[in-house]
Amino acid sequence: MPKINLTSYGAAGEVTGSCHLLEVGSFKLLVDCGLFQGGEENYKKNWQDFGFNPKDIDAVILTHAHLDHCGRLPRLFGQGYKGPVYATSPTIDLADVVLEDNFKIIQEKTSHLKLGLLYTSVDLKKLYQNWRPTEYYKQQSLGNNLSFTFHNSGHILGSALVEIRVGAKTIIFTGDLGAINMPLVKDVDYLTQADYVITESTYGDRAHENSRDRNQKLISAVQKATLNHATLLIAIFAIERTQDILKVLNDFYETHLDFSAPVFLDSPMADKATEIYEKYIDYLNPAAQDTLRVDKDIFKFPHLKITSRVEESKLINAVRPPKVILSGSGMMEGGRIIHHLAHTAPDPKNQIMFMGYQVPGTLGAKLLNGAFDFDYYGKKVAIKASVDQIDGFSAHADLPALLTWLGHFQNQPQIILVHGDKTVLPKFSQTIKEKLGLEARALIPAQTIELN
Ligand SMILES: [Zn+2]
Repeated sequence: MPKINLTSYGAAGEVTGSCHLLEVGSFKLLVDCGLFQGGEENYKKNWQDFGFNPKDIDAVILTHAHLDHCGRLPRLFGQGYKGPVYATSPTIDLADVVLEDNFKIIQEKTSHLKLGLLYTSVDLKKLYQNWRPTEYYKQQSLGNNLSFTFHNSGHILGSALVEIRVGAKTIIFTGDLGAINMPLVKDVDYLTQADYVITESTYGDRAHENSRDRNQKLISAVQKATLNHATLLIAIFAIERTQDILKVLNDFYETHLDFSAPVFLDSPMADKATEIYEKYIDYLNPAAQDTLRVDKDIFKFPHLKITSRVEESKLINAVRPPKVILSGSGMMEGGRIIHHLAHTAPDPKNQIMFMGYQVPGTLGAKLLNGAFDFDYYGKKVAIKASVDQIDGFSAHADLPALLTWLGHFQNQPQIILVHGDKTVLPKFSQTIKEKLGLEARALIPAQTIELN
């Protein structure tokens, strides 16, 4: 039996930058290679060395298309990686959109932070040439007595949890685990046997609001904006949450024809991602598949206006309220939403709404913590609009769902925690011990542990 070592070079003791190295004898397998996000100091970590030599890596597995899991893949190629990147087909399509969009943001940040290019368009192209589409439930051999199988992680379209086999040993990486009963994706697959489970811990200390409350909160915000002739600015994550929100708004607008406040989807990336959802209908849950087969325009309801060009985006400001604007990025790290925020924030009638976890240090987290103003290209803009959050659209499993998922194992796997805030990890490991009787510990960045 070869020696198995695990080292995390990202998302150990934090929630971004997922990058885990599994060494099986001399074979080096990387699971995810994501971007560090949230605050300047954290962002700068993307420019540091990986902590390993990319030329030595034999294969990469990507669990899903979120930037904090795929964002440094082009840099990996820029630094000499030449091997395959295994992912499901929807993940590959979505990651292409995400990385292309982020390339522009990276260039802006690069000049702002006075750093060299993180990666070039040539590096991006190398990644595109090395994708290896891999289906769910199909065992993929990597040689060396090593293989892996993707299962549905229920997080976003195409997201996978990875079951890795080394001889008789099973090691599972959850990637990000999905919430239950989401509008579009199928619920997560439950696995029953493993020796080690490396699991995400984002919501390891709390529960989400239920789905009815979540939908109602969104509709109430739209109604309030309409009655007050005000603007509702919603910070969206382009993948999954946007499509979930569009479905809820679609259902509302189609049954409330008197509501005419326009909804602007001002995110070209979200628009492209929505097309990919329509392309992979089979990957969605049965109810969503049924609706999409009957009503092909589920994401295009009356009064929805999709703005792709910058000029169209600017014109939204001239539209007299009431209006609803969906724009990204979801944590206000950059993108068109910054301009909308500058127009929306100073009026106390307006509402700013976040749709999920805000990484500490991001503008989104600052607003939710009650910031009085924000810096808009060197100018201070007062924040007088109300700031609120709807947690229930989060694509992450909450504490009860995480415990239910971990509780399905019939043997006693060791649980290794990653992708969680420093304050959440000790609480989550304690809860796992108390409720499930399983050993759980958090990984420390760049510290190797043996899985033998
Ligand atoms: Zn994710």
